[in-house]
Amino acid sequence: MPKAFLRIENCQPERCDRGICQARKHCPVKAIFQEEPHEVPFLSAGMCNGCAKCIEACPLKAISLN
Ligand code: SF4
Ligand code: SF4
Repeated sequence: MPKAFLRIENCQPERCDRGICQARKHCPVKAIFQEEPHEVPFLSAGMCNGCAKCIEACPLKAISLN
């Protein structure tokens, strides 16, 4: 099964809604973690089910499926 992969070099939280990761908000299994607004999130591939909702939600296309 493909897993989501975050390219941190493409992620710019300051360009998301008040620094809050939009991909995290849309992940149904809470596989994306962002401790504080404006921090680059962490994506747990082990928890990911490959649904691709985060890919649609990220405005900068920083996430892809591997
Ligand atoms: S939505 Fe995309 S650009 Fe914004 S913080 Fe999340 S991964 Fe980064
Ligand atoms: S592909 Fe789905 S399960 Fe995996 S991190 Fe993205 S939203 Fe979450």
